[in-house]
Amino acid sequence: MCLYYHPVTIHRMFIEKKFDLVIVGGGILGTSLSYFASGLNDSIRVAVVEQAQRVAFHTSGRNTGKIHAPYLYNPAKKKLFAKAAFLGYDMWEKYSGLKNLPFQKDGVIEVAVEDGETGTLEKYLRWGKKNGLKNKEIELVDGPALAKIEPEVRCSSALVVRKEGSTDYARLTQSLMEDSMTHGTVFLLGTRVVGFKRIGDGWELRVRNSNACSNAHTYNHGVGDTGYDGTIRARFLINAAGGESVDVAHSIGLSEDLTDVHFRGEYWRAPTEYHNLTKTSIYSVPEFPDYPFLDPHWIVRVDRSCEIGPNAVPVFGPYAYDRAENIREFLPKTIELLGSGAVKTIFDKQFQNLVFNEVHSSVSKSAMVNRVRRFLPRIDANRIAERGTAGIRSSVINSAGKFVPDVVLVDDDDGSSFHILNYNSPGATGVLPFSVHIIERLCRAGCLDVTDITDVQCGPWKLGDVVQSLGGV
Ligand SMILES: Cc1cc2nc3c(=O)[nH]c(=O)nc-3n(C[C@H](O)[C@H](O)[C@H](O)COP(=O)(O)OP(=O)(O)OC[C@H]3O[C@@H](n4cnc5c(N)ncnc54)[C@H](O)[C@@H]3O)c2cc1C
Repeated sequence: MCLYYHPVTIHRMFIEKKFDLVIVGGGILGTSLSYFASGLNDSIRVAVVEQAQRVAFHTSGRNTGKIHAPYLYNPAKKKLFAKAAFLGYDMWEKYSGLKNLPFQKDGVIEVAVEDGETGTLEKYLRWGKKNGLKNKEIELVDGPALAKIEPEVRCSSALVVRKEGSTDYARLTQSLMEDSMTHGTVFLLGTRVVGFKRIGDGWELRVRNSNACSNAHTYNHGVGDTGYDGTIRARFLINAAGGESVDVAHSIGLSEDLTDVHFRGEYWRAPTEYHNLTKTSIYSVPEFPDYPFLDPHWIVRVDRSCEIGPNAVPVFGPYAYDRAENIREFLPKTIELLGSGAVKTIFDKQFQNLVFNEVHSSVSKSAMVNRVRRFLPRIDANRIAERGTAGIRSSVINSAGKFVPDVVLVDDDDGSSFHILNYNSPGATGVLPFSVHIIERLCRAGCLDVTDITDVQCGPWKLGDVVQSLGGV
């Protein structure tokens, strides 16, 4: 049975406002962490504070919706993410089956448009197999062989990946939230954490109804009013604040050598006449593989609608979906960037080329569509008129001006908080095993009262089995 307490009801039920664990951020990551933490035992008191009126309102509900196969990730450098993506597929398949949620095993095709790109596909094939994909799940074929599978696609060679899926991550997150609430988690929606104060046994957090914050529109787009004003206490704090996670870490004196830059991923919706153009989504070998995003793809979504995107347009804030918010963030972010390692990135020639490309594909629809027409020539930009929902990724840059390729995990010196920065793609795919990994790590470090999670059963999973499958990464 699913008990659903409206957040306002929960505020009025508060007596103590004290929690063992408070998670800042109700994206897919914070919600999933709350699901496993609250499943540890009946007495643990967990709260999630989310400034939007619903979970997965920002990046987690504005992505491509792919359950990615781990072929793009170097097993030596992105071992945890690759493993988590590999296990994430099976966990989402199981969870979606139990809850009757959208899950399509529809695969993906990665194409080499030019002959010279085939070497990259050979590398992806090796990585995919090393990360656990079986021979029948990933195969390299030449152009004529691909034409038999997808007649509309033009390429020199292609990687046909069969263990990849599509879903709707906003719905999965909503369902995880409901399950987490049945374990006792309190969700404070429409509520922004605005102050962090260390106290003797943990934290006192100042929280505000986000509608009362000066930039309410940014945080929750002005919908509804469920937020809470006051203070709450936390024995332990997890920062899962997505595009603001670096700012949260900075505000309590951590990770000051890191900064972040934000990229808006925009989509165009294809008209229904194009919905049967391909059976599956088509990605291409990225032009700039050293940057943390891919070239726009041809996307077949879980409901079989099709889109082109996302590009990666630099913007000045994690919620800069529109021009007004982008302008508002321009000055503070520029000052921050000029005083950080990112200044080296900004003056890097290759980065400037990339920015030019991406901005061009934002202002010109045909520039964006042409990036996909390279391999799907039937598409005509004039037939495409509707924009899709943009999502923003926030990438961490270190003091040397380099993009940090992996997730950044930061333990607070006094053991009272934990910070997850740079949680980017395929973050939604791998979030379930990744969250188990984090909860196990915190339990082992004595942060959450429970020290051994081996026999804990949470939903359909025995947590010890998940940890074992991750194999000590
Ligand atoms: C364009 C795009 C496409 C992508 N496609 C895919 C894909 O197909 N497959 C895949 O696996 N991954 C994909 N990703 C990556 C994936 O979406 C992210 O890794 C994931 O959603 C990150 O989740 P999160 O919970 O960390 O962040 P978010 O969803 O951003 O959640 C963080 C939350 O914290 C809240 N918050 C921040 N500060 C505060 C505060 N002070 N008080 C209260 N609340 C706060 C925010 O409101 C936000 O809701 C994509 C990303 C982008 C940008």
